[in-house]
Amino acid sequence: MATRSLTKPSGHTAAFSDQAIQALKARVRGAVLAPGEDGYDAARTIWNAMIDRRPGVIVRCAGAADVRAAVDFARESGAILAVRGGGHNIAGSAVCDGGVMIDLAPMKSVRIDPFARTARVEPGVTLGEFDREAQAFGLATPTGINSTTGIAGLALGGGFGWISRKFGLTSDNLISADVVTADGNLVRASDTENPDLFWAIRGGGGNFGVVTSFEFRLHRIGPEVISGLIVHPLSHARALLRRYREIVAAAPDELTCWAVMRAAPPLPFLPKPVHGTGVIVFAACYAGPMQDAAAAMVPLRAMGEPIADVIGPHPFAGWQAAFDPLLTPGARNYWKSHSFAGLDDGLIDMLCKYANELPSPETEIFLAQLGGAINRVPPAATAYPHRDVAFVVNVHARWRDPADDAGCVAWARSVFDACTPFATGGTYVNFIPEDDGTGVARAYLGNAKRLAAIKAKYDRENLFRVNQNIRPAG
Ligand SMILES: Cc1cc2nc3c(=O)[nH]c(=O)nc-3n(C[C@H](O)[C@H](O)[C@H](O)COP(=O)(O)OP(=O)(O)OC[C@H]3O[C@@H](n4cnc5c(N)ncnc54)[C@H](O)[C@@H]3O)c2cc1C
Repeated sequence: MATRSLTKPSGHTAAFSDQAIQALKARVRGAVLAPGEDGYDAARTIWNAMIDRRPGVIVRCAGAADVRAAVDFARESGAILAVRGGGHNIAGSAVCDGGVMIDLAPMKSVRIDPFARTARVEPGVTLGEFDREAQAFGLATPTGINSTTGIAGLALGGGFGWISRKFGLTSDNLISADVVTADGNLVRASDTENPDLFWAIRGGGGNFGVVTSFEFRLHRIGPEVISGLIVHPLSHARALLRRYREIVAAAPDELTCWAVMRAAPPLPFLPKPVHGTGVIVFAACYAGPMQDAAAAMVPLRAMGEPIADVIGPHPFAGWQAAFDPLLTPGARNYWKSHSFAGLDDGLIDMLCKYANELPSPETEIFLAQLGGAINRVPPAATAYPHRDVAFVVNVHARWRDPADDAGCVAWARSVFDACTPFATGGTYVNFIPEDDGTGVARAYLGNAKRLAAIKAKYDRENLFRVNQNIRPAG
């Protein structure tokens, strides 16, 4: 009988027979792909082109039964296991070398209940796909700012975007989830069923099992929101960010404004000579009644003399995808992220200095505004602990030529280091680029111990380890 091998967590190989793979194929409704087979390369390719890994076998799951079969196969063969939702994680944790990869992308069902205002969502759904269904009923749950991101990984780590200050994190809007745990069983996690697991998956990432169905709470928004961009020259950034700091401190929960420093893209509303020059862009969205938005936007629109101001009514689903053209898959990406309780003068100076030294035309520094409803949840209420954070700054290096890898990565790290004295010390788990040994502690702070205990209960052998890994308590 022919044997093949898979990589174990130790790096050694685990032999398995053709019979074992045939048995897996017989159990699975979706596809089981070996290297070289049709669809294998597409399934292992993720958003960040820096990641080029080759699993020993990919199970493209059609439903929860397939997930159970794949988890059983990985556990029984002793192979390393990776789980892919939307494939956007910057660290590339959706894919592993040599082991088993569970690909959830085929699981695309979204069922909106407009009467109860809830959604049932499978884990292969992207943010744009979810918005399309929910917006058909004038509903939404808070997610992120790039519509091709997977809802699964985003929700399990927290998830914030344009309407989170009003309605909370994506994970704060989770009502229940179906989870295939390391023993291959499917359990329900909610406030009343396995509440410890429910607590852990709201921020604890993919450490506890594979979520095969999410149930989210929905809120009324759209079909249009007042949103848009205000663009200024980068040379004015220092004064503008000081004013921005005052404006957002007084802003209602409905108003969210992120600031982005980068080279101007060739947007049709920007004069041609501005294209490619340094700009600071304020991107704002009002998540409340349309008639109240104009007044709320006044202070932002009154800052300085913008090159362009395109605040106005936009379809909510379209605004959710507004940054997609700048974040397409296939580029090389590296980022480092800090959390801040406020924007000190020294931090603003540092960010402006580095924004004038961007290492590539697509690189950007962005400040995401958090707070509002997110911060009214106690830090120990769910696994996501960062309820004191007003801004997350992401230093996003993005380039095309592998020859630029070292320079771009070094630049992002130097900005991160320079900003460290101003930061809270915590970090958003979904923005961690690689395991530097401190990331998980900084991601979970005071919740780390409880997470390790719950990990030991649901995954003592650490089957789910290709992630920002929480080690099971001893
Ligand atoms: C361009 C871009 C924009 C982004 N914008 C935002 C933003 O606005 N707001 C924000 O909060 N985040 C944002 N993120 C970060 C995003 O939340 C993370 O990258 C997240 O991991 C993406 O989830 P995914 O399913 O696409 O990723 P994947 O890489 O597929 O999954 C990441 C990890 O999540 C786990 N996982 C995925 N699915 C499951 C499942 N069903 N069950 C168990 N574990 C699972 C696995 O451990 C997996 O390794 C952005 C990322 C990118 C690349």
